[in-house]
Amino acid sequence: MKPTCPSCQNKINNRDIKNTNKKGMLFEFECPYCQTWIHLNKTLGVLKTLGVSLLLITSLLNIFSIKSKYSSIFSTVGFAGIFIAMLITFFGKHEEIK
Ligand SMILES: [Zn+2]
Repeated sequence: MKPTCPSCQNKINNRDIKNTNKKGMLFEFECPYCQTWIHLNKTLGVLKTLGVSLLLITSLLNIFSIKSKYSSIFSTVGFAGIFIAMLITFFGKHEEIK
C-alpha cells in the first residue's frame, strides 16, 4: 500500500511514516514530506472495516459449523468482504485532514 499525498502528490512509503493516529475505526498518518495529516476517505474506511468484519464473521460461522448448510454462501460473502477491503487498501482515495 503506497498512498499518494493529496497535498504534495508524493508517494508515501509505509516505513517513512513516523506519526500515526488511530481515531476509532479510522487510521490517520502524517505525510513525511509536507507534514500534512492524511486519512482514508471516511466512507471507504468504514467499508473496509465492514469487509474485514464480514470475513471474520463468516469464517467463525464456518469454523463452528453454525448453519452449515449455508457454509458456501458464507465463504462467498467472506471472500467478497476481504476482496472489497483489499481493493480499498490498494486503491482507496486518501484525503487531507483539515
Ligand atoms: Zn505531502
